[in-house]
Amino acid sequence: MVTTEQLYDKFLECTGVSTDTRRITPDCLFVALKGDKFDGNQFAEQALAQRARYALVDDPAVAERDQERCLLVADGLTALQDLARHHRQTFNFPVIGLTGSNGKTTTKELIAAVLSKKYRTYATVGNLNNHIGVPLTLLSLNEQCELAVVEMGANHQKEIELLCSIAQPTHGLITNVGKAHLEGFGGIEGVRKGKGELYDYLIQNGKTVFINSRDKTLMAMYRERLKDTRSESTVAEVIFYPAAEAADEPIELLQESPVVIYRDSTKQEVTTHLPGRYNFENMLAALAIGDYFGVSVEEANRAIADYNPTNNRSQVITKGTNTVLLDAYNANPSSMAAAIRQFAATPAKRKVVILGDMYELGEESEAEHAALGKLIADSKFDLVILAGKDMHYALGYLPKAYYFPDKFSLHNWIMDNPMTDTSFLIKGSRGMSLETVLPFI
Ligand code: ATP
Ligand code: MG
Repeated sequence: MVTTEQLYDKFLECTGVSTDTRRITPDCLFVALKGDKFDGNQFAEQALAQRARYALVDDPAVAERDQERCLLVADGLTALQDLARHHRQTFNFPVIGLTGSNGKTTTKELIAAVLSKKYRTYATVGNLNNHIGVPLTLLSLNEQCELAVVEMGANHQKEIELLCSIAQPTHGLITNVGKAHLEGFGGIEGVRKGKGELYDYLIQNGKTVFINSRDKTLMAMYRERLKDTRSESTVAEVIFYPAAEAADEPIELLQESPVVIYRDSTKQEVTTHLPGRYNFENMLAALAIGDYFGVSVEEANRAIADYNPTNNRSQVITKGTNTVLLDAYNANPSSMAAAIRQFAATPAKRKVVILGDMYELGEESEAEHAALGKLIADSKFDLVILAGKDMHYALGYLPKAYYFPDKFSLHNWIMDNPMTDTSFLIKGSRGMSLETVLPFI
């Protein structure tokens, strides 16, 4: 068995880390992980044949076959996390950790765009935000970085605590706390507790917390923790944004879709590529952090104006005479409600929603889909199209909706019923991958 220190020496000889034989680069460290379907140990030999320098394995029989290049540990995942923690400790530049129910990736990208104006900033790539993604993110940092932004996702208790122990954020932000992953967290109180583990870490370690003072839940979560803090030995720095005094508020929302903001300090109107009021909240976080780290207001404005979303998150796509707001990256009750309200408030000739199941709601799935049905009914769209097993719970309020138990029957129907001059909102959980509808519109 190799120790973390020994493993770290080997890691320093490598060019990077990969957990997937389809993404081996010469001289990387291959880490064998066990998934539901595969055991990475079975791919170690192949990874080495593809020029990985070492393979971290937890199967002694595999290690036996190539003792030179296989590094045997008790558990691959724990070893990866320990390695990342060790690597993290060699840096002393700021690491901004962020979590929350919705808007993590967007906010992370906006923060990185703003901070990149002044610092060599490294941010989580895509959505690599879990117990594997966070270690991989940390391991890709090097001394060239001046600042890191790390997205942390969680769907159960103690996960953020673990991710904090690895990433050791010096600064942190919770975007919001809503109805996401209710099943794994055990209801909304559970989500609050689970996400709050970031505040716990930052407060207990005397780090810096950014809090959106307009968000009552976040403010309450912070206050509860202050009451519980007995030791005076560590004092966290708390930055409330936007500025507490309404008169001092330097940023104003002028228009919701796309978001246009007005900045008092520069007397500038900034037009963004992002739709939706919720993206205004995401921008406020990025601007507050940019301000804290000394990015000029002009540079921050430019970063926000130039940021273009990708990956099916809040993308506005024109197809012939149709406009599609493609938000098919993911969905949960909070983000679904935000998107529907937004779409309802957007002017358009004819509005059609194509919505898919919200996953991971456990026992609350029936009630949440039914509540969604009511919200959709109240929003008075021209046409409602629903797909997925649990969406039938929404039908009670929507007698005129078209319902498809799976997305394939939905594709067929859309192909047979072409529409023009229409605005679409497309949204559903990742498992529904509703972006596949797009070619048929
Ligand atoms: P994941 O849990 O998949 O990592 P995430 O928290 O990173 O998601 P994003 O990918 O940034 O979130 O955004 C996903 C969707 O959530 C957006 O397309 C939008 O519909 C919605 N959303 C984004 N920001 C907010 C917000 N501040 N409040 C509510 N909903 C939001
Ligand atoms: Mg994300």
